[in-house]
Amino acid sequence: MQPPRPALLRHALIAIFALAAIAAAGWLAYVLALDAGFARMQREANDRLALIASTFDATVARYRYLPAVLSLADPIRELYRRPNDAAAIAAANRYLQSLNQSARSAELYVLDSTGLALAASNFDQESSFVGHGYAFRGYFVDAMRSGEGHYYAVGATTGQPGYFLSHRITEGGKTLGVAVVKIDLSALEAEWARAGDLVAMEDENGVIFLASREDWKYRPLVPVPAARLAELNAVQQFGQAIDPAPVFVPKGNRQRIQIGHARGRGNIELGEYALQIRPGDQGWKLLLFSDVVDSRRNAATVAIAGMFALIASLLVVLVAYQRRQVVRAKLDAHDVLERRVAERTEELRRTMESLVQSAKLASLGQALAGVAHEINQPLAALITYLASSRVLLRRNEVDRAAENLDLMSSIAERMKALIDHLRTFARKETGTRSAVALAPVIDNAVRLLQYRIDHEQIEVERPAPAEPLYSLANPIRLEQVVVNLLSNAIDAMRESDRRVLRIALGSEGTRAMIEVGDTGAGIAPEHLKALFDPFFTTKETGEGLGLGLSISYGIVREFGGDILVDSAPGKGSTFKIVIPLMDIAPGAQRQEVQA
Ligand code: ADP
Repeated sequence: MQPPRPALLRHALIAIFALAAIAAAGWLAYVLALDAGFARMQREANDRLALIASTFDATVARYRYLPAVLSLADPIRELYRRPNDAAAIAAANRYLQSLNQSARSAELYVLDSTGLALAASNFDQESSFVGHGYAFRGYFVDAMRSGEGHYYAVGATTGQPGYFLSHRITEGGKTLGVAVVKIDLSALEAEWARAGDLVAMEDENGVIFLASREDWKYRPLVPVPAARLAELNAVQQFGQAIDPAPVFVPKGNRQRIQIGHARGRGNIELGEYALQIRPGDQGWKLLLFSDVVDSRRNAATVAIAGMFALIASLLVVLVAYQRRQVVRAKLDAHDVLERRVAERTEELRRTMESLVQSAKLASLGQALAGVAHEINQPLAALITYLASSRVLLRRNEVDRAAENLDLMSSIAERMKALIDHLRTFARKETGTRSAVALAPVIDNAVRLLQYRIDHEQIEVERPAPAEPLYSLANPIRLEQVVVNLLSNAIDAMRESDRRVLRIALGSEGTRAMIEVGDTGAGIAPEHLKALFDPFFTTKETGEGLGLGLSISYGIVREFGGDILVDSAPGKGSTFKIVIPLMDIAPGAQRQEVQA
C-alpha cells in the first residue's frame, strides 16, 4: 500500500498532467490541421499551375507555325533566290513587317544558311537585325540541324528578352536558311503579377528566365555549381551574367510539397513558401510558390480552438468532479449527522427514561405519607388481632383464634400486595406495553394517594364504569400519569372550601377517557399554553419540578393518546386522558390480564 500523497502534490500532478494534455492536444491539432491545409494548398496550387501552363502553351502555340508559314511565302522564296537584289530585300522586309504587325509577334526575320539576317520586320529601326549574324544562337543551330528550334534569350541586338521559334527553309533538298519568330512573353509575366501569383519559369539549366517578380530573373532556383555557372555565362543567353543567388532555400517536405524560404534581391527573406513544380514540354519547368503563412495561421487557429475545447471539457470534468466531491462530503457530513442524531436520540431516550423515573419517585415521595398510613392501619389492626388471639388462645377458644388468624392472614396479604405494588411502581422499567385493564390502574393510583385524600378532607366522586376497558399501554407508566393528575388536583384544592375530586373512567367510540376533575384554583389562561412544557410550574421551589405534566404528556403520546385540559379559574379544572381502546374479545382480555 502506498502512503496517501499530500493533496497539494496530487493537485500539482493533476495540473501538470492537464497542461501536458492541453499542449499535446494543441500540437496534434496543429499538425493535423497543417497537413490538411497543405493538402488543400497542393490541390489548389496544382489547379493554378495547370491553368498557368495552359495559358503559356496557348500563347506559344499561336506562333508555332508562323516560321513554317514564312518559309513558304513568295517574298521570302524570292529573297533566297536573289539575296543581293535590293528590290527583293525591300519586298521581303515589307512583307515581314506587315505580317509581324498582324500576328502581333515581337519580330520576324529570316537568316541565310550562315546565320546572317537577310530581312527583318524591324529593318527600318535602329535595332534592325538585317546584316547581323546569329549563327551562335541555339535556335539557329537547332533549326539547321533538326529543322526546328526554340530558345529563350535576351535579344543580343535589342536587349529585349523573348522566346525564339525557328524553322529551316529548304528547296529541293538544299538548305536555304532559317525563318525566326520572336515572341514577347512580358505580357504573361505582367498577368502573373497582376493575379498575385508568385510564378516563375525555369529553363533546363535551372535558371529562372520568366517570373512575376522582376528580381528573380536570371537567378537559379537552387544553387548552381560555380563551374556550370561559368559555362552558362559564356553563352550570354541573357545578355548579362547570371546572378548566382538562389531564389529558394529548401528546408524540408510536407505532404510531398517542398517547403522553403524565398529570397528576393540581395538575399532578402520573402517568407516561407511551398514550392510546386510542373514540367513543361520544352524542358522548362513552371514554378508556383504558395505562401504557407495562411496555412500555418489556419492550423494555429484550429490548434487554439482545439485547446480551448479541451480546456472547456476539462473544466466541465473538473466541475463535475468537484460537485461529486461536494456531494460526497455532504453525504459524509450527513452520515456523521445521522450518527450523531442517532446517538443523541438514544441519549435523549435514556435521559427521558431517567426523568420519568425521577418524576415517578418524586410523586412516590409525596405519596409516601399516605403509604405509611396505608401500612400503619393494617399493622394496628394486626396488632389488635394478635392481642385478642393471645387472649382467645389462653382461654382455649381455638376456633375463634383460628378465625382471627384468617383475618390476620388476609390483612398481611393486602399489605404484601400494596408493598409489592409499591416496589413495582418504584422499579425502573423500560415501558413495554401490553393489554391493560384501566380501572385497576386508577384504583392503584388512588390508593397511593388515599391518605392525602382522607387527610385533606377531599370528597371523591367515582362513577363506576359500565364495563371493563382495556388499552395497549404500560400499566405502571399509565398509573404514574394518573398519580400525577391526582396529586396536581389535590394540590390545586389546598385553598378551596369545597374539595371534590372527580375520577371518571369512560369511553367514547374507540377511545377510553380517564377524567380527573377538581374544584381547585383553576389555571390562568396565559398559563394554559405552557402547562405541558418541561419545568413549567407555579409551585413553590422544592414543591414542584414542573416535569409532571410534560412527562405525563410524553407517556400518553407514546400510547397514541392525548391529554386535554379544561379549566375555569377560581372554579376548578378537568384533565382528560384520551387513549385508544384495545379491541379484543372479553374472554381473551381477561386471560391476558390474568396471565
Ligand atoms: P408541578 O406539579 O411539579 O408544578 P406539573 O407539570 O405537574 O408540575 O404541573 C405544572 C403546573 O401546572 C403546575 O405548577 C400548576 O400551576 C399547573 N397545574 C397542573 N394541574 C393543575 C390543576 N389541576 N389545577 C390547577 N393548576 C394545575
